[in-house]
Amino acid sequence: MAFDPRAMREQFPILQQSVHGKPLVYLDNGATTQKPNVVIEAIDNYYRNDNSNVHRGAHTLADRATINFENARQSVQRFINAKHSEEIIWTRGTTESINLVAQSFGGKFIGAGDEIIVSAMEHHANIVPWQMLCERTGATLKVIPVSDAGELDMDAFASLLNSKVKLVSVVHVSNALGTVNPVADIIQQAHAVGAKVLIDGAQSVAHFNVDVQALDADFYAFSAHKVFGPTGIGCVYGKKALLDDMPPVQGGGEMIEKVSFNGTTYQGLPFKFESGTPNIAGVIGFGAAVEFVMAQDRDAVQAYEDELLQYAHEKAEQCEGLRIIGTARKKAGVLSFLLDGAHPADVGMLLDQQGVAVRTGHHCAMPIMDQFQIPGTARASFSIYNTKADVDALFAAIEKVKMFL
Ligand code: PLP
Repeated sequence: MAFDPRAMREQFPILQQSVHGKPLVYLDNGATTQKPNVVIEAIDNYYRNDNSNVHRGAHTLADRATINFENARQSVQRFINAKHSEEIIWTRGTTESINLVAQSFGGKFIGAGDEIIVSAMEHHANIVPWQMLCERTGATLKVIPVSDAGELDMDAFASLLNSKVKLVSVVHVSNALGTVNPVADIIQQAHAVGAKVLIDGAQSVAHFNVDVQALDADFYAFSAHKVFGPTGIGCVYGKKALLDDMPPVQGGGEMIEKVSFNGTTYQGLPFKFESGTPNIAGVIGFGAAVEFVMAQDRDAVQAYEDELLQYAHEKAEQCEGLRIIGTARKKAGVLSFLLDGAHPADVGMLLDQQGVAVRTGHHCAMPIMDQFQIPGTARASFSIYNTKADVDALFAAIEKVKMFL
């Protein structure tokens, strides 16, 4: 059966509102997605009925909370096809996930003279932690160049690889350009020189199936809030053998086995990386969100979203004075653009007046904006509940913006 975006939309209460007297057209999904009833209800249910700390209570509420919390880990495990549930480490989101790997894996396995590779289209979350690691250790950061269309230069990548490279960390789908990167190929080539690979999956998991075993990714990071879950929670997947070898980054309760002043021992996976009381409601909401996604016909959703993006691109190409930033052959979810003579911030503000929510600015990807010699873009980013009518509303609003400016 064909995917029905209107029935999908009904499940997101926030979308049923007007903004500035116009029906809300929410096209800021790259920043955060909206939440379906099932996610809101899972969080509500936890606080109404099960609220308790996890793992250490000897009472019914604690048992229920712990079961739901650990079930969510299994949901996320299935969502990305990890081999073991303890390979899923809860974090506050993609940013904290990358920092965890930089501090723990980087701190132990990367030193002076080693090299780390990122790409020119990374989000700051996948640049700054590596710069900080390089400052601490004396390692060097190398950058895969990006073409004018917004595609990785894979020949340049191949020439950067050598035995000094300990880690390659690249984004699966660029939040600024929408490019879908050939991560399976990147992983294979990096492994051939003995490097490990982290994939920043913040923008991918909401759009298509990710199978970390098929990809052979060493680490895969993403945030719940960009895949219909709550803010402040996310995870990093890591291969068990790697995570077992990595030291914890934060000390405290939950992550220890035995504490004494003669020495402390740590828990095994995943708990050694999860100190303190976790974001229990967030984890439960995250679990509900990935279950919600897994309940969809994902191939049908992906085909629908591809068609929607294609439709938006066609409209953009016909729109006079509009320049698309990011024209890679393979894209997902994102249409970044500039209007002649208009600052993106003004465009965003005028679109908002017409009920259309987009994001403007550098999208936390200043280096790629510098490469295009632009201060930023306006970015329409699409999700499962957007329709061609939303795209039409965006372009009708853009026409009005052009008249204003
Ligand atoms: N990486 C990419 C590609 C992103 O788009 C984002 C958020 O926009 C992040 C990392 C950071 O995610 P978070 O702010 O949820 O940690």
